[in-house]
Amino acid sequence: MAMDDAAPQKDRVEDRHVTLITPTAPVQSPTHGGRAKCLQRLVRLDLPVPRTVALSFDAVRGIAAGRMPDLDALLAGFDPAAVLCVRPSSEVPDWGGPGAILNLGLTDETHEVLSRRIGQEAATRLYTRFIHAYAVDVARLDADAFAELPAEGPAGLAAALDTYEAEAEEPFPQDRATQLAEVLRSMARAWEGTTARLLRQAKGAPADAGLGLVVQEMALGLGHGECGSGVLQLVHPGTGLPQITGRYLSQSQGREALAKDAASLYLERDPRGPSLQELAPEAFDALVEHAGRARLRLRAEMQMEFTIENGRLFILDGVVVPTTSRAAVRIAVRLAEDGIITRQEALLRIEPRALSELLHRQVNPMAVRDPIGRGIAASPGAATGRIAFSAAEAQAMAARDEACILVRRETSPEDVRGMHAAVGVLTERGGMTSHAAVIGRGLGLPCVVGAGRMGFHLRRGQLVAEDGRVFRAGDTITVDGSDGTVLAGAPGMVEPMLDDSFRTLMAWADAERDIGIRANADTPEDAQTARNFDAGGIGLCRTEHMFFDPRRLIVMREMIFADGPEDRRAALDRLLPMQRDDFVELFRTMTGLPVCIRLFDPPLHEFLPSDRIGLRDLAEALDLPVSDVTRRAEALGEYNPMLGMRGVRLGVTIPEIYDMQARAIFEATLEASREDDPVVPEVMIPLVSTPREVEIVRARIDAVAAEVRAERGRDFTYRLGVMVETPRACLLADQVARHAHFLSFGTNDLTQMTYGLSRDDAGRFMSDYVAQGVFAEDPFHVLDAEGVGELLRIGVARGRQGRAGITLSICGEHGGNPESIAHCRAAGVDYVSCSPFRVPVARLAAAQLAI
Ligand code: PEP
Ligand code: MG
Repeated sequence: MAMDDAAPQKDRVEDRHVTLITPTAPVQSPTHGGRAKCLQRLVRLDLPVPRTVALSFDAVRGIAAGRMPDLDALLAGFDPAAVLCVRPSSEVPDWGGPGAILNLGLTDETHEVLSRRIGQEAATRLYTRFIHAYAVDVARLDADAFAELPAEGPAGLAAALDTYEAEAEEPFPQDRATQLAEVLRSMARAWEGTTARLLRQAKGAPADAGLGLVVQEMALGLGHGECGSGVLQLVHPGTGLPQITGRYLSQSQGREALAKDAASLYLERDPRGPSLQELAPEAFDALVEHAGRARLRLRAEMQMEFTIENGRLFILDGVVVPTTSRAAVRIAVRLAEDGIITRQEALLRIEPRALSELLHRQVNPMAVRDPIGRGIAASPGAATGRIAFSAAEAQAMAARDEACILVRRETSPEDVRGMHAAVGVLTERGGMTSHAAVIGRGLGLPCVVGAGRMGFHLRRGQLVAEDGRVFRAGDTITVDGSDGTVLAGAPGMVEPMLDDSFRTLMAWADAERDIGIRANADTPEDAQTARNFDAGGIGLCRTEHMFFDPRRLIVMREMIFADGPEDRRAALDRLLPMQRDDFVELFRTMTGLPVCIRLFDPPLHEFLPSDRIGLRDLAEALDLPVSDVTRRAEALGEYNPMLGMRGVRLGVTIPEIYDMQARAIFEATLEASREDDPVVPEVMIPLVSTPREVEIVRARIDAVAAEVRAERGRDFTYRLGVMVETPRACLLADQVARHAHFLSFGTNDLTQMTYGLSRDDAGRFMSDYVAQGVFAEDPFHVLDAEGVGELLRIGVARGRQGRAGITLSICGEHGGNPESIAHCRAAGVDYVSCSPFRVPVARLAAAQLAI
């Protein structure tokens, strides 16, 4: 029954679209599908694969159009009494396809022959099963008519034949060529059906994706002696660790052993019960040997689908073991360490994005999910907690040791303490670069933003699910920041995994990549995370994030409310030591690596309280009437704050703030420098649109540097950089570059300004835009190669024209996105900088680009 390569020529199927699978047959996956290709490989490995014929995509298209290949020739190679199966072979298994039809060829006559071979009872069961499957899936008869029939014994068989005849108004076909023709036709047509087409296109199949079919002689899995079927692999699919796993069920065929309630046996000998190893030791040994050979020669961990017939082993199929991302890393690394694949191949086998699954807790893929809403997956990982509708509630819950999810319309600096206290964040508004998203990613806090289809009735203390269910403060929900869903309750989770395989893979990635990867880190804790993930330095420290601490926030507010430069300086003098201490810690944490500090960027009013209670607290702290504070806060309001008094505009108009920050940086530089290892800080000016802004700010920073040198009697150097995040700065990058040691492209603002699209509001309509194909992707997530990318390329080219040897980088959120990294590398940047938890993703993505 096994394939015989030396079969005589008459045995061969001649049609070029219908090929007998042999070690040398021209079976190609693009024309015959993945299963046929895989079977051919197994045949080449000399595994006991039953005789198989593959029909190409063209043959199957022809069948759907009414052109049947020469079935007599096809069947001539099979024993006249053989039982056959027909299985789909699409190019990618995930694209689906019609279900396999088993036990084809059974007729009254072959039933007799089979009864003698495997026993009456087993033969009758198979014939009855085939009639049922043929009736429902091929002849398209009423499934209910067959569902009620007795399934077993001669009575079941007679009833199946009678019902078939009654429903089809003709007897069950007693000729296997007819059966085969009908099976092939129905499978070919099922593939062409609209539903099947839409389903596979949703999985990425092209409109003209083809279907191959394989006709295979069946090993029966039922009958005398040890018979059965199952799957076996040499690794655990969940962990990737070496372990024989799989399923086996005696007296079974097809996918019966895989059914949830199947009482499958142990594979290896096990004290808890009978095992395949005991029941069919030779077959078991051969199976393990075959799986090992397949691993070695097919260069992947393979799941072997097998059947045992009276103790004899047959291999029906082999597919790459479907695994979790964590298992995939372990498997790829071990294959490379065993010399089966190269390190480069191991790197290419891991989807960079999948690494974030290893870095965060995830909802267990096997867990039951109860979705109640959907938003933008803004910060990966999953977290379960009780709903808290305010930062204060979140802190109170954290104080009681209760995990909580902070649920807000959007977040502001006032919520940061609540975010620290929460295990996850859910907001109604916002996109990939909104406050909640950026802070969430920095903290490694799972975060779903822009879940605008849910009802956020914070005053009423209600969160209303998309399906209308109402959740109140204290109810338990789960946010899945990896896929953007919000779930009711507490589904099972899997823990992060940063083991030796992960570290090994990362080290291999670093050896390949040709661009640098830094982290965006605002606090010493972030910096530590960045170090843990082997970032090459800090590419962006957003200094305003250092003022979120409540003790600092109040001084910050005093500074904002200052009446004139003198009052302002007094408040800044109190902020100075706080900033200096932060920088000292940052420099020390990052010893030996560059740290790029961006001067204050956001509109000042973002730091003011937004509600009555906050305004009252501030009035108390400043000893002013609430009405005064309210009026001043309103006066600071702007129609378009993101295009208003922010970034370098603050530096030009209220220079004391940058003076204080420059002094804090330089004093910290001297404090953290060691004789043999001087700190060379990088100071970066945000939101520049004209070279003159850089000149003005640079002159003041130079003056502060000179003052600090003179006061301390010690020298130091620093590097001055400019953030290129307005279209105009890109166009004038040559002039800007003349004043700077480095340029860093802020692609968040650059995207906002290029599209004229508010990064804080885009979440409201982004999903509609993407669903309707207006944008292929959220441009705040994946760099828009055509528009923003063009500005980036212009900026890079002009920047280098302006100053040879200038360092160029990007530090927008795109720095952690593999597709965007590819655009940046192609544009010629020296490094990308991204949130600390995305650093491993970026390291692997950069390595793949260099291979
Ligand atoms: C940017 O605009 O890309 C950037 C990094 O700065 P921020 O997100 O802080 O505006
Ligand atoms: Mg910016």
